[in-house]
Amino acid sequence: MFRKVHYRLTFLCAGITTFLLFTMSLTYLYVSEQGLKQNHFLSFQRDIATLIANFERQTLITHTWLSQMESFNAFTISITDNGIPLLFSERAQDEKRKITEQEALEYYRSHYSVTSPDAARKSFHTEYSFTSSYKEDYYACYAYIPYENGKTELLILSPVLPLNRQIHSQRIRFAAIDTAAVCLLFLFSFFFTKKLLIPIENSRLEQTRFVAAASHELRTPLAVILSCTGAIQGHNGKKALPEEEETFLNTIYSEGQRMKRLIDDMLFLSQADSHAFSVHPEPIEPDTLLLNSYEAFEAMAAEKNISFRISLPDSPMPPCLGDRERLQQLIAILLHNAVSYTPENGSILLSLAYGKSRKTDSDVRRCHDSYTIAVADSGIGIPDEEKAKIFRRFYRSDQSRSTKEHFGLGLCIAEEITHSLKGSIHVEDTPGGGSTFLVRLPFKESGTPPAPANHTQSRI
Ligand code: ADP
Repeated sequence: MFRKVHYRLTFLCAGITTFLLFTMSLTYLYVSEQGLKQNHFLSFQRDIATLIANFERQTLITHTWLSQMESFNAFTISITDNGIPLLFSERAQDEKRKITEQEALEYYRSHYSVTSPDAARKSFHTEYSFTSSYKEDYYACYAYIPYENGKTELLILSPVLPLNRQIHSQRIRFAAIDTAAVCLLFLFSFFFTKKLLIPIENSRLEQTRFVAAASHELRTPLAVILSCTGAIQGHNGKKALPEEEETFLNTIYSEGQRMKRLIDDMLFLSQADSHAFSVHPEPIEPDTLLLNSYEAFEAMAAEKNISFRISLPDSPMPPCLGDRERLQQLIAILLHNAVSYTPENGSILLSLAYGKSRKTDSDVRRCHDSYTIAVADSGIGIPDEEKAKIFRRFYRSDQSRSTKEHFGLGLCIAEEITHSLKGSIHVEDTPGGGSTFLVRLPFKESGTPPAPANHTQSRI
């Protein structure tokens, strides 16, 4: 599927850029060719003006002068004196030249000659362009020069071939450059769109893995529930005894609870993915909040004979803005993990540190305040190679796979909550063994004192 999208995007991207490139090239070519043609015609007109002026100034026109003019300007000049061709014009002419000159004169007469040149008393010359029957383009000039007893008429032709060649080679150059550019554009689009699709492909892969892992996690409790109900209803031919029914019902209830927890976790993450869960900042006292969490997990730690301590700053922290519910949820996840992954007789320390890093004393408003919540345990610890993986969805280390209570979603939720509160979370080793989770959160001072805290605690 991604390959198809990749090809389509490549064609779309390269197609649009190619279209723009061609439009720009053609516009440039058109403007440049028009300029070239105009310049060429203007230079022809200038040369003609000089030639006619020289012609009028000279009393004696020699063949040598005319030949020089012809070869210097790449013209062909034919002259008639009182309608009789001069000897110069009669020199070795080929048939093609004669026909072309005839056509140029006819073209002039049919397009420009509004009054008979004989009626004009002053000399004049008209420049124009025409295409001969040999499909050759020319700039032509008809000049009329009267004198006392008669008139001289000149027909000057200049082939446009060199200009056409220049235009042609310019077009070929542009075509070659554009073709190379289009190839490069296709190559670039191919690799660019491939790079562009990598994150989408990865996120789709992640989603597929998530769905597979979630289905796997849900299948186990569902299978237990089905087999228990089957046993109660006697589906396999043997109905459970009334005293067994109670055990089966308890199992169904606890597996149902497990499924509910997992579904709640997944819903939370899906809300986080769609940016649908919101943060509700309210005035809170972080030390009171930590104390509440400590009290909630005291009994759980005592069950495993774990030494559970709390360390708060010496002076009470001022109230700050935070989302009480999310913070409680975050601390609960870390404490639940600490208790779960710390063997009996271990120790857990929940601590709060408050730091102020102000650039100057007068710069109070721009100070970067933060507070850090740390959960340090002396438990099984996390190997370095697993430290980055534990925040992935459904990731569980081999040691924790046997625990039914854990799905491998707790730390992803903790990370989502921390990020939503604009903080950061990371794990490091506890000196002497175990792991320490550190959550650093921004401190935004609140003027008003917080509302009385709700003491209820839950995993999620
Ligand atoms: P789970 O619900 O399995 O605990 P988490 O996302 O909270 O899922 O944790 C992911 C994995 O990280 C756990 O399976 C465990 O291997 C490891 N882990 C988390 N907290 C601790 C801890 N305090 N000590 C050791 N390992 C831990």
